[in-house]
Amino acid sequence: MPKSEAQKELEVYRKTGDAYLSNEDKNMNFSKSDKPNKNIKEEILLILQQVCDPEIPVLSILDLGIVRGIIPIDDEIEIIITPTYSGCPAMDAIAIDIKLKLIEYGYKKVKVSYTLSPAWTTSWMTLEGKNKLKQYGIAPPNDKNEKDFQKRINNLLFKEEENIECPQCHSTHTNLLSQFGSTACKALYQCLDCREPFDYFKCH
Ligand SMILES: [Zn+2]
Repeated sequence: MPKSEAQKELEVYRKTGDAYLSNEDKNMNFSKSDKPNKNIKEEILLILQQVCDPEIPVLSILDLGIVRGIIPIDDEIEIIITPTYSGCPAMDAIAIDIKLKLIEYGYKKVKVSYTLSPAWTTSWMTLEGKNKLKQYGIAPPNDKNEKDFQKRINNLLFKEEENIECPQCHSTHTNLLSQFGSTACKALYQCLDCREPFDYFKCH
């Protein structure tokens, strides 16, 4: 049986773990009649924008950057996601929410699969997502520190604390209270100026 375009595309996505849209897809000015698959992907993106992280309801799964592939094959849609960290209990809930939301829009056959490589990093989170986190009262991941190799090594060797900005008063005069906040992916900090405790979404 000859492979359909969609199947070939699926293989490429799986091999490269590429972002969910090709450069061509990102240019949304395609004509409706000739590229039906791309229209489906565009529509699905809009639907996925409504699926939220159950732990942080202000963030959609697109803000989180966990959607890695949207593959229409015949009448079936496969959504590929990368867990934020292995064993994240929110992932099963997210998979169910993706299915329910797509069913609501008439996509009856939906499959959600996982890809673990490359591993999700907080740098996949959108800028909009990071701003939403801040407004929600959670300090967004400080990717700047994460990219600085020496700082990263210092963190590992000397447990040098990062300067995390308080989401309430924007002071960087903050203190780590606990490596684990309300969930395993967050750490608990306290602001030394306004005294408010807050969650910090850890980099990884
Ligand atoms: Zn503060």
